[in-house]
Amino acid sequence: PSLRLDVITVFPGYLAPVHESLVGKAIERGQISFGVHDLRRWTHDVHHSVDDSPYGGGPGMVMRPTIWGDALDEILTADATLIVPTPAGRLFDQSVAHELAAESHLVFACGRYEGIDQRVVDDAARKVTVRELSIGDYVLAGGEVATLVMIEAIARLLPGVLGNSESAVDDSHSNGLLEGPSYTRPESWRDLDVPAVLRSGNHAAISRWRRDESLRRTAVRRPDLLDKIAPGQLDRRDREI
Ligand code: SAM
Repeated sequence: PSLRLDVITVFPGYLAPVHESLVGKAIERGQISFGVHDLRRWTHDVHHSVDDSPYGGGPGMVMRPTIWGDALDEILTADATLIVPTPAGRLFDQSVAHELAAESHLVFACGRYEGIDQRVVDDAARKVTVRELSIGDYVLAGGEVATLVMIEAIARLLPGVLGNSESAVDDSHSNGLLEGPSYTRPESWRDLDVPAVLRSGNHAAISRWRRDESLRRTAVRRPDLLDKIAPGQLDRRDREI
């Protein structure tokens, strides 16, 4: 089964990197089909304007519902999920990435300015699943970069997209923890040695060491993640760390 991705934006050029590297190869292999659509295609006036001043006053401009409505009527299919990137959305994290990787058609509606008239979301929600998602607690100028982030995180979870050499199972966030440090040759570099256990050949000791480093790093950098781990997921040795 392949995944269909459509992105609607006033800056189609922003999405060019999708054709690079991992996602680009998945598109070439037919695992993902990808379309970018210029929102201005659905404008009717000579200025191709997509925004207007906000009801209730205040600074900035809001994207007009009529143009977005026409665009979505054309691009949304019955089995699509509409994703609206917004800093006011629920957090896009690895578990949301897994959920979205199981879908067949994702449509991304990239906002600019102060965002899109809320009725666009309300109207689309009468027909399809709509998810308003934030990629983190900061404000970008538009939804395009957030869309790139989500597409890359989703694409690498699709079966056959990652090669054997880059498995996703040990990644940070896949088991609720951060991944510990990695090392490659040479064994000693600028007076810094690779931890001896990694060169021991003792696989049980190596996996215990990796687990310990993962727990330690998570406790220091992201204690909030440890709080979310169910007690059953930690063994006795884990709890001693
Ligand atoms: N007025 C909006 C608010 O405060 O919620 C911010 C609008 S922002 C300047 C313009 C667009 O950038 C948004 O419509 C959204 O598409 C995108 N955007 C900005 N920050 C984002 C984030 N953290 N996650 C996802 N999209 C974001």
